[in-house]
Amino acid sequence: MLELKNIKKVYRMGNNEVYAIRDVSLKIDDGDFVAIMGPSGSGKSTLMHILGLLDIPSEGSYQIDGKEVSQLSEDELAVLRSQLMGFIFQQFNLLPRMTALENISLPLFYSKLSIPNDHCQELLKQVFLEDRALHKINELSGGQQQRVAIARALVNRPNIIFADEPTGNLDSKSQEEILKILHHLNDLGITVVIVTHEEEIGLQAKRLIRMRDGVIQTDQRISDNKKNQNAAEVIKRSYFHQTFMREIVEYFNQGIRTLNANKIRSGLSMLGILIGVAAVVAMLAVGRGAQKSIEAQLSSLGSNLLILHSGAVRIGGVSQESGMTTRLSLDDVQMLKERLSSARYVSPTVNGRGQVTYQNKNWNTQILGAMPPYMLMHAATPTLGKFFSDDDNLKRNRVALIGATVVRELFADKNPIGEFIKINKVSFQILGILPVKGSTGFRDQDDVIVIPVLTAMHRLMGKDWVDSIELEIKDAKFLDSAQDDILNLLYSRHKVPPSQQENAFNIHNMADIQDAVSQSSKTMSLLLSVIAAISLLVGGIGIMNIMLVSVTERTKEIGLRKAVGAKRKDILFQFLIEAVVVSASGGFMGIVVGWGISEILSLLSGWSTSISLSSVLLAFIFSASTGIIFGIYPARKASFLHPIEALRHD
Ligand code: ADP
Ligand code: MG
Repeated sequence: MLELKNIKKVYRMGNNEVYAIRDVSLKIDDGDFVAIMGPSGSGKSTLMHILGLLDIPSEGSYQIDGKEVSQLSEDELAVLRSQLMGFIFQQFNLLPRMTALENISLPLFYSKLSIPNDHCQELLKQVFLEDRALHKINELSGGQQQRVAIARALVNRPNIIFADEPTGNLDSKSQEEILKILHHLNDLGITVVIVTHEEEIGLQAKRLIRMRDGVIQTDQRISDNKKNQNAAEVIKRSYFHQTFMREIVEYFNQGIRTLNANKIRSGLSMLGILIGVAAVVAMLAVGRGAQKSIEAQLSSLGSNLLILHSGAVRIGGVSQESGMTTRLSLDDVQMLKERLSSARYVSPTVNGRGQVTYQNKNWNTQILGAMPPYMLMHAATPTLGKFFSDDDNLKRNRVALIGATVVRELFADKNPIGEFIKINKVSFQILGILPVKGSTGFRDQDDVIVIPVLTAMHRLMGKDWVDSIELEIKDAKFLDSAQDDILNLLYSRHKVPPSQQENAFNIHNMADIQDAVSQSSKTMSLLLSVIAAISLLVGGIGIMNIMLVSVTERTKEIGLRKAVGAKRKDILFQFLIEAVVVSASGGFMGIVVGWGISEILSLLSGWSTSISLSSVLLAFIFSASTGIIFGIYPARKASFLHPIEALRHD
């Protein structure tokens, strides 16, 4: 039994107060068939919404079977509604993209009511639509749609059916069918409350209430509400506990379905995430590959290596004022060899480029002048032939060791050992082939020719100084002291005044260089994370935008879902999962595309790239969380919509 006492409903419009219901007290017995009539604006729908727990009164008491329900929360109302009531609207309010059967079973998803498998099919039979189960709603006529809506109202086995002008949009034949069904339901023991404009319908009811200006004007008993002896037993309900996983899967299905319905839009919002993730995955792969090869090369150099350069203080190393020179010479090399006890090997280098010819082939490459210890310091034992000797150097012999790239360019498959090439028109004999060192991504370390330093200085480049001196120190623990010793020896030999000492010479040590490399790779990955963050931010804003549009667009759907029993949490989840589906599938495709790009890059450039599982997982997790973070606001917005206001939305 429903009992209203002194119910009032006020709408505030700015400073105005509109009384939709002024003062209504009303009892409705179980099994009754009540018609409510009255002019438009008299408060019929408002009354129905309050009776149907879709809205709460501003004042007054509402008891269902003795239990006060007028001030329950929205979610409590939703539960009660789906246990007790079914609602039929003038506008049908079905979800157009779903089939009749899916529409009918929608309330079950929220009520978690356990029903026999053929229950929905059975309901379709009751409304004479058993052959339309799999038709989409927009393939049905108005009368058929309203019958689907009736079946939906019945799916939770309600005690009461509310129908707000259910035939208002229908032709008279459909109207008759609908009424027949409602009377039949009443015969089965279900209480029916119907709002209508048709006098004829009102007079068929057992009780007729007329309203005007928010109050009941007349309340007339037309026929007895005697208990139907044939009335079906109240069917026992049992609620099944839906596992969380099953629920999530169902939300995912719904999410994918709505995304499918808006393919272009979902595709575009996925694209933002896709591009960001792809870029990050590809760059990380290339970056890691580059770093690995740099590290490999550095470690092949040995970490006890010091490289000494003339300072940048004077261009060319010559001071205009004092005649002081910071240019390095072979005498410096000799002195360091003799006086620096911590040095194991010392070798000067001179650098230049040279045009190399062999028969009709031509190649431009790096020319490096060095002394024999170079071989030991750089792990450059020839793979074929031998390194030049001290004697070769002293005699300024025109002999050369060539790198693998030069071999390939000039000799193809021929054995170069003993052949003569011309470097800048000077003839050299090839002594050996240097071991393959690979490329750092920017520089090909095998594109080089190594010749004796004296030959290079005097026969090829015409300089009497050296570009740098490389020293291998006996033990890492001497590295620091050796650097000081070297500088002091040089300051005194070159007579560098203390004021000039700071920039006179530069010494790099391999540990520094390794530090610098790892520092720069840290900077690189920081940069990448910033790019990742920005692209995910942009992608996330895209998703948020789409979700907000979607919430606005689907306001009616949200209202309907709430009207048939969805709680806040249900709506929140639905939209959140949609956002996650968009962003995670964008992320997934981004990973695939990024992987493809890095493979193509490594094919084109010869760099080794390497994708790590952790970067893939990270990209995926980040993109999915983007969906959650940027989906929350729209989803919350949706979940807070009031069911009736949402239903009224156009
Ligand atoms: P009926 O269904 O009898 O045509 P309603 O119950 O829909 O009437 O409306 C009763 C009165 O309340 C009307 O004057 C209407 O303008 C007003 N009203 C209904 N809903 C709202 C609302 N959300 N905000 C402001 N006024 C409303
Ligand atoms: Mg109305």
